[in-house]
Amino acid sequence: MAKTPPPDRLSSPSEMPDDDGELSLRPRRMREMIGQPKAKQNLGIAIEAARARGEALDHVLLYGPPGLGKTTLSNILANEMEVSIRTTAGPAIEKAGDLAAILTGLEPHSILFIDEIHRLNRTVEEVLYPAMEDFKFDIIIGKGPSARTVRLDLPKFTLVGATTRAGLLSAPLRDRFGIHHAFELYSEAELDTIVRRSAEILSVPIEQSGSLEIARRSRGTPRIANRMLKRVRDFAQVRANGIITREVADNALHMLEVDQLGLDSLDRQFLTAIIDKFSGGPVGLETLAAMLGQERDTLEDVVEPYLMQLGFLDRTSRGRMTTRPAYEHLGIGHKFRGPDATLF
Ligand code: ADP
Repeated sequence: MAKTPPPDRLSSPSEMPDDDGELSLRPRRMREMIGQPKAKQNLGIAIEAARARGEALDHVLLYGPPGLGKTTLSNILANEMEVSIRTTAGPAIEKAGDLAAILTGLEPHSILFIDEIHRLNRTVEEVLYPAMEDFKFDIIIGKGPSARTVRLDLPKFTLVGATTRAGLLSAPLRDRFGIHHAFELYSEAELDTIVRRSAEILSVPIEQSGSLEIARRSRGTPRIANRMLKRVRDFAQVRANGIITREVADNALHMLEVDQLGLDSLDRQFLTAIIDKFSGGPVGLETLAAMLGQERDTLEDVVEPYLMQLGFLDRTSRGRMTTRPAYEHLGIGHKFRGPDATLF
């Protein structure tokens, strides 16, 4: 199942090949990580306690939309615990044997990061339970009547699982994580700090008003902020004197079809479809996905969180509905026929 939005989307929070150079932009220590105060506080305490006891950190579940720092945080955990980290993804572990190979190869107390953990298949998930709980792995040797189960001892390790939505995980798996953290979209001020930090690392001259403009338009997502910074840097170099001012950022992002609030064409198509075809909703997500030729997951993980944060979209039990501010942002406020329409 293709889960990612079209790769040419500047404001896609999913990782793209051009993001490779981002490695150097990734914060490596907890103190360099911007925002997420609750995670930093809770995990900071858990790390200190585990280190003092000389134990592995409890299993950690991270959930939230792509591009918010789940991978970054899991690497930070390894750095802070001073242990190694092995990274894989749910769909890459096809058989119980694949998981056995990974688990038996782990160093004691090290971190196993499984991205998209909700996409593990059921058999693999079931052998993961005793591994997480008792650090044991049951392996079946032989076939037919002579088959027998052998119990392997595993090194004590920390599983860090990442998923876009906690609801996608089965309850037994979710319950086996001792520490949970939900990532939320970043504030404008936090993104501004991220943009200025990245600009400094990349040696890009940027004015305060320029970084704020990028922050405001990056949909609460650090990955998008960093990507926009790089595109605006190119624009500043070719069309201006290399310095990112508010005007340069505005012109560059306008050329890239990202509007004042960071909405791109897919966001606008999404809102317009609800407004024009369903008079503002309610409409089911499946219907919208089919109309827009997108995966349902893409709309749910990538498009909707930001529209909801802006207050442009309501998720109701009967389906999705656009709000008055969405109409106003699209310049069609007069078409709004919602429940409060007569009040204005
Ligand atoms: P996810 O795993 O949630 O998809 P990543 O951890 O890959 O997201 O983060 C994407 C990029 O955003 C990182 O490479 C990093 O440059 C940047 N980033 C994410 N979170 C932060 C943060 N809290 N502070 C600074 N930069 C961040």
